[in-house]
Amino acid sequence: MQRLKAQIRDIPDFPEPGIVFKDITPLAKNPDTLRLSVHQLIHPFIGQKIDLVAGMEARGFIFGSLAAWELGVGFIPLRKPGKLPYDKHSVSYDLEYGSATLEAHTDAITQGQRILVVDDVLATGGTAAASCQLIEQLGGEISGCAFVIELDRLNGRQKLLDYHVHSLLNYD
Ligand code: AMP
Repeated sequence: MQRLKAQIRDIPDFPEPGIVFKDITPLAKNPDTLRLSVHQLIHPFIGQKIDLVAGMEARGFIFGSLAAWELGVGFIPLRKPGKLPYDKHSVSYDLEYGSATLEAHTDAITQGQRILVVDDVLATGGTAAASCQLIEQLGGEISGCAFVIELDRLNGRQKLLDYHVHSLLNYD
């Protein structure tokens, strides 16, 4: 895991003063750490019944689509408002900085399908909790939530108590 941590770059005061942004682009650029991180993300879920991986815009698309590829299942994007072209369902939530809405196509999930939720960072947990809510409202069941990074002091896990939460790198 130190190999992964070495490829995460801290950007102070981005996108707002007081936020230390965890930049995963060095990790994603390096083929070894990209492959290792995706393998580690899906590891606890191998052998479980997973029908789809859902990833949150935008960095959840990077890890989520690769996780779907490795698991041999499809990928569904959870997108910011106004991006999806077909009929959609939306959920709004609070962020570490500001507030946001996520949308999914109404036909993205078939009733009872089991979904693994993937994103780069678990911060306050608002994004992941809203994603799980959106998926459940569309008839899906959550297999678990997997993150490359967890920011422990923001207690995001507390918003995901009903789910199996897996993270690779913990920071204070
Ligand atoms: P939250 O809803 O607070 O758990 O925030 C998670 C979402 O915001 C994820 O999609 C992250 O990509 C992004 N995010 C929140 N805080 C940070 C941070 N300190 N560094 C990088 N991304 C972050």
